[in-house]
Amino acid sequence: MEVTLLGTGDTTGTPTPRCDCDTCLRARELGVERSRFSVHVHNERTDESLLVDASPDFRSQFLTQDVPLPDAIVISHIHFDHLDGLGNAYRLLEDVPVFAADETDPQTGQSVAGTVSEKYHYLDSISVEPRSPFEPFEACGFEVTLVPVEHPPLLCYGLAIEDPETGAKLSLTGDSNYGIGEDSRDVLRSPDLCFVDGIVPAKHVEYHPLGGDHPDEAGVHRTFGTKHMTIEGARAMADDLDAGEYRLVHLSHYIPADEAFDDDMAVDGERFRL
Ligand SMILES: [Zn+2]
Ligand SMILES: [Zn+2]
Ligand SMILES: [Zn+2]
Repeated sequence: MEVTLLGTGDTTGTPTPRCDCDTCLRARELGVERSRFSVHVHNERTDESLLVDASPDFRSQFLTQDVPLPDAIVISHIHFDHLDGLGNAYRLLEDVPVFAADETDPQTGQSVAGTVSEKYHYLDSISVEPRSPFEPFEACGFEVTLVPVEHPPLLCYGLAIEDPETGAKLSLTGDSNYGIGEDSRDVLRSPDLCFVDGIVPAKHVEYHPLGGDHPDEAGVHRTFGTKHMTIEGARAMADDLDAGEYRLVHLSHYIPADEAFDDDMAVDGERFRL
């Protein structure tokens, strides 16, 4: 399994357009980028590629990174930064299954799969394949399991991606706060590599109108607002999931410049072989 991080940023990315904050300046100096979220997983046995989420930066990601176009796609949830790149399939991809959860979201009255079908009904090159959480399915020779995570108000799913031949395992929390349930954690647990949502340091909760949540014993908030983990929370999650290796993803430009490029904080183009 060869895993390439195509997009490691939050919804505005780093650098954020026209932003001259220290973190965006440092990213430009270092020549690194955090575009909108997407992960490319290549199966070297079958020579197939699975794409996790369709970033609005799809085109530039596939121009910049040396990876094949996807043979299948999984969509974690319907936020812009994870779904709106799917239109790039037009005249570029052929016969690509798009897997997404089949549970109805009370917020939208539709499942993720239903929203994808409705929004991209004009795309003949894709077929939407609804799948039930906790029920493993096959994609690109991998065994993939969607698990519910916590990203209110919308339903969102983390993923475990395993190679049944080699035993290699990649887990992704998806966009989530720290309150992921034990049944979902159990599926994500003990991966060789884990990508964990961490958006800002815990000290930033004072700037969020809803503050933070899920404090640890020292009172440090592991959730920022309601939708994402803090950097501290994401590291605690990687520890709880017993990840062999991990990277924090979905990072924002609000992380101070002297912390924002620490070793466990992903940048676009990082590649792993499991
Ligand atoms: Zn900035
Ligand atoms: Zn989201
Ligand atoms: Zn997101």
